[in-house]
Amino acid sequence: MSTKRPPKNQRQQASAKLHVAVVGAGMAGIACARTLAQAGHRVTLIDKARGPGGRMSTRHTEWGDFDHGTQYFTVRDARFARALENATNVVRPWSVNTVRVLDALGRVLVSAPPPKEAHFVAKPGMSSLLKHWVQPLADGSAAADARVMFNARVTRVERDVLNPEQWQLGMEDADGGQQVLGTFDRVVLAMPHPQTHDLLRSAGLAPDLRKALTTVDVSPCWTLMVAFAHASQPGLPHLGPQWNAARSTHHRISWLARESSKPGRGTVERWTVQASPLWSAKHLEDDAERVKAKLIKGFSEITGIRAEPTWAQVHRWRFAQTGQALGQAFLLDAGLGIGACGDWCLGHRVEDAFVSGLEMALALA
Ligand SMILES: Cc1cc2nc3c(=O)[nH]c(=O)nc-3n(C[C@H](O)[C@H](O)[C@H](O)COP(=O)(O)OP(=O)(O)OC[C@H]3O[C@@H](n4cnc5c(N)ncnc54)[C@H](O)[C@@H]3O)c2cc1C
Repeated sequence: MSTKRPPKNQRQQASAKLHVAVVGAGMAGIACARTLAQAGHRVTLIDKARGPGGRMSTRHTEWGDFDHGTQYFTVRDARFARALENATNVVRPWSVNTVRVLDALGRVLVSAPPPKEAHFVAKPGMSSLLKHWVQPLADGSAAADARVMFNARVTRVERDVLNPEQWQLGMEDADGGQQVLGTFDRVVLAMPHPQTHDLLRSAGLAPDLRKALTTVDVSPCWTLMVAFAHASQPGLPHLGPQWNAARSTHHRISWLARESSKPGRGTVERWTVQASPLWSAKHLEDDAERVKAKLIKGFSEITGIRAEPTWAQVHRWRFAQTGQALGQAFLLDAGLGIGACGDWCLGHRVEDAFVSGLEMALALA
């Protein structure tokens, strides 16, 4: 396990065109795949979901869309800023107004100080940025032989039967159909760290990488989405508070955002509410209806909105926010040609995932 240069024979191969499988089409996997394709390598990007995004996802409903994962992102890394230059039509700043609300005992209930840096969202939904970046890989304009596969869960990483220097992947589609895909010179796992660990363990591969993965800790997050259709008529004021997003010290809830305040969203009053990491962990296996009722109660205590939502749903993120990061940009077993990346390497932000995926690709390419 290292971030060192690969051995000489691999460096020679690295200057040739490699075929790399990137598993996971979230920010880290897509940053890695597009960088490899730009460097002239052949890339196959695979995700178990129906489309790209991972935790930068958008839930489509008849009342409008919800960013039920990432709420916004910051841009501190110059390379991230440069990559976003080709996405100006899908990325917009989102200003969160200043707010500080005290409870009956004078304690801070919600607060959103003026941001020290700009907050950005993708438009019309958070997943739009990654859809934009995946398109050139899917339509062949980034590299003629790039390939993108969705609805494909990778279940095995194993040596290719005919060419043991290379890798093949066992995959399962949404209907349980099995398929084996190969052959790859390198494999990058851009997935949540426990799933990366499980895949490597079941193959008996890379014990040093697996050991490093056990140092990472990522908290879950129960997320509530609520829509109030009657508050969408033109001319009617918002329901509830005058602020659009805030952190909260409520015992259940840590964040609330009015979806309809984000650029390019519909006008129906919609809120995304995140339970705190502690509460989410404590109630991780609770029945979803029970969690929904508790979060709606907390939401109404914070916002003063007592109206019955027209629509409400919860989503459970088992691996949402990094508590303890790995502390280096990626993991690579140079001898095997297997790497791992994701936000959990560096932190809990979209930008951490981008930097991790980018650095992983640069190490391989
Ligand atoms: C509720 C919530 C709120 C957040 N808010 C913010 C925020 O406001 N600002 C911010 O900067 N960050 C926020 N984040 C964190 C941000 O979403 C992540 O840092 C970033 O999206 C992680 O990207 P990633 O590529 O590392 O992982 P992911 O986005 O998790 O991507 C991993 C991908 O791997 C795929 N996958 C997993 N297993 C397999 C398999 N076996 N086979 C094939 N595919 C597989 C998954 O489907 C997924 O698409 C939030 C996260 C959550 C959950």
